[in-house]
Amino acid sequence: MITKRLSELEDEDLRSLLSRDVGIQDVLPAVNEIIMEVGSKGDEALFKYTEKFEGAHLDDLRVTQEEIDLSYDLVDDRLLEALSSAADHIFYFHNEQKEHDLWMSEASPGVLVGQKVVPLDSVGAYVPGGRAAYPSSALMTVIPAKVADVPRIVVCTPPQKDGSINPLTLAAADMAGADEIYKLGGAQAIAAMALGTDSIERVDKIVGPGNVYVTAAKMLTRGSVEIDFPAGPSEVLILADRTADPGVIAADMIAQGEHDPKSISVFVSLDDLLASAVAEELNIQAPGAARSDIVSESLEHSAILLADDMDEALDFVNAFAPEHLEIITREPMNVLRSIRNAGSVFLGKFTPVAAGDYASGTNHVLPTSGYARIFSGLNVDHFTKKMTLQMITDEGLLGLEETITTLAEAEGLLAHAESVRRRLEPRE
Ligand code: NAD
Repeated sequence: MITKRLSELEDEDLRSLLSRDVGIQDVLPAVNEIIMEVGSKGDEALFKYTEKFEGAHLDDLRVTQEEIDLSYDLVDDRLLEALSSAADHIFYFHNEQKEHDLWMSEASPGVLVGQKVVPLDSVGAYVPGGRAAYPSSALMTVIPAKVADVPRIVVCTPPQKDGSINPLTLAAADMAGADEIYKLGGAQAIAAMALGTDSIERVDKIVGPGNVYVTAAKMLTRGSVEIDFPAGPSEVLILADRTADPGVIAADMIAQGEHDPKSISVFVSLDDLLASAVAEELNIQAPGAARSDIVSESLEHSAILLADDMDEALDFVNAFAPEHLEIITREPMNVLRSIRNAGSVFLGKFTPVAAGDYASGTNHVLPTSGYARIFSGLNVDHFTKKMTLQMITDEGLLGLEETITTLAEAEGLLAHAESVRRRLEPRE
């Protein structure tokens, strides 16, 4: 773990913190081979890789209605209630986020302009399931697609060794409104959804988080299919002043670390004593973590950084562009004004990342590795496209005539000018 003043960070440490290389380049050749094989051999390659990586021998990839019904019986009522409560919050947030399907507005007399929002025809949601089951990601990827009214929502998630899908994940995908669910994980799932096979018809866009293999496959298939953004190993940056509880900060860093050995937790402290107290708390809490092996690997490349003042801290936060940003300061809303790059922001000491992961309703599929500089987290817009509209009256066209004909003639496009004049000529 790096523990330093921000001003004393060596270039190499700063570069590695900002670039957060999770090893995508290293896996590109292997992932490319998987994609090519799925492209050439279709289902045969999917069965082969499912046996190789999941240890599951399957004859059919599609989950049946009986399996879905059984999943509800296998899951405890208390868990189903928690899923349903999370789903309600996620539906609420994404319904609020949804744009008007259609609007028109008068830009000048007789010139109406507007926009129609149309759902994509089909999307594929990748729900991870390697090291841990992610029923919450099933809700997070399917619900916004449902809110956007996408008519065909496909889910791929890796099966367990016995060939079944984790029942909670299956119930979540069904509850959220998935139309087709397949037992398929990793790069082979992305390739199947991007290229199509006998079992899985291709989709227009693939969304969802995953490990390096999944993320690399999304990057390599972009072009055959649209993707949301790279959403790899989770990360948190916590910005806190002396009002924060060091035990809570350490707990949140550990919580992020338990996702993946490649996950990263960075604490930017505005107070020297708080920084040392968090380091001590990590030493106390981390060894007792349920997934202590993964946590300790993650903490190795994590950092505690001391800022001289808020400006220095904010410059670092915006350069880091974290997937999750916690602001635990006296006045978090004031700090928020200066934040430009973050996937999702958690304001105040009672707002842990875990709330956004499961229950507040905001989406937990977020850009990692600094991609929050250019991408927004998963939202209803990812599942729609926009058509622009215009409707112009004779009076409106008269008002635009001079502008159109002057510019069209300047570009040498005389037929464009004529198409306007002809409309305005008095009819015999
Ligand atoms: P996963 O489903 O992403 O990956 C499992 C698949 O990886 C397997 O099905 C297999 O096909 C493939 N795989 C494993 N080893 C391989 C190898 N050697 N070669 C080729 N393919 C291989 O599940 P996971 O591994 O648990 O990872 C989930 C990831 O998703 C974590 O990193 C977690 O942090 C991340 N996550 C991110 C977000 C976000 O929004 N950014 C949200 C939830 C989860």
